[in-house]
Amino acid sequence: MRAVVLNGAHDVSVETVDDPGLSGPDGIVVQVESTAICGSDLHLYHGDMAEPGVHLGHEFIGSVVETGADVDTVSTGDRVLVSGVVGCGACRECRSGWPMRCLNAGSAVFGTSLELPGGQAEFAAVPGADASVRRIPDGVTDEQAVLLTDILPTGFLGASRADITPGATIAVIGLGPVGICALRSALLYSPARVLAVDPVAHRRAHAERIGVETIDPADGGTMAQVLEATGGRGADAVIEAVGHDETINDAIMSVKPGGTVSVVGVSTNLAHPFPMAIAMFKGITFRICVADIPSTWDSLIPLVANGRLHPEDVFTHRMGLSSAADAYRVFDGREDGVMKVLLDPTA
Ligand SMILES: [Zn+2]
Ligand SMILES: [Zn+2]
Repeated sequence: MRAVVLNGAHDVSVETVDDPGLSGPDGIVVQVESTAICGSDLHLYHGDMAEPGVHLGHEFIGSVVETGADVDTVSTGDRVLVSGVVGCGACRECRSGWPMRCLNAGSAVFGTSLELPGGQAEFAAVPGADASVRRIPDGVTDEQAVLLTDILPTGFLGASRADITPGATIAVIGLGPVGICALRSALLYSPARVLAVDPVAHRRAHAERIGVETIDPADGGTMAQVLEATGGRGADAVIEAVGHDETINDAIMSVKPGGTVSVVGVSTNLAHPFPMAIAMFKGITFRICVADIPSTWDSLIPLVANGRLHPEDVFTHRMGLSSAADAYRVFDGREDGVMKVLLDPTA
């Protein structure tokens, strides 16, 4: 089969590799029908945490072509979406949809190590399938299903952990694909005002099309503009979807006393310069997580299937898997107004 292989920093290629087999009796093999490139793939692409030879990709859907004897919830021929993060699949936490909290071997992300090859490929082996896949119901399009494998759940967790109440004023910092998914999820909680913050003009334009106010941090800083927009008080809740030290601290500075900051931007900083005194004296609630994707599906799949959530406009580019090197270059360079790239494994 063909798979997108990371050779080194800024170097990916499509290679012919061995077809995957079942990882064990609890696993399935999926013929990938659609897969996306994620902002977190760029961390690997930049050479951070890179393992040469890794097969990339953690956002994919497809048809089950092989099923282990212990798999109960899906059968060969079913079309499924796959959580980008998996745990052991057997412990209490994994079975409840929280693979990041796995009590056994710990969690893993597809396409980040040689042990768990990714889904930017024609086929992918999925371990612990009962805990990590769902059948795609009628009413959910392929593009929506791909978004349910990572970024919509991530954005939804950011919103659902932000204590948003009807009528609130909230800020969303970072309007990349995850930020847009967080913004759309936040609207489910009926905030009266959403202040959407990003330095990139076409990302702000996307948020404006959804119908929210935008802030360019270059116009005097995020905190100053959020305070100005809220009469000096700060936002009731701030969702952060970037993961940089500065933007996380902007969130802490921009939230009102007693408000909630909910971070879903990926930070790998072990020594974050947390403004402890400000957080303490303001009495804020600070939450941070990465995607426990299956935990969100009971909420998100019906919301998408019934037309209450439309995240699919984050896809701006659709390319064949064979063009993966170009796709990574365009996505990394933020060329051509790119938000998110979908890859077709048949092309
Ligand atoms: Zn992702
Ligand atoms: Zn587990």
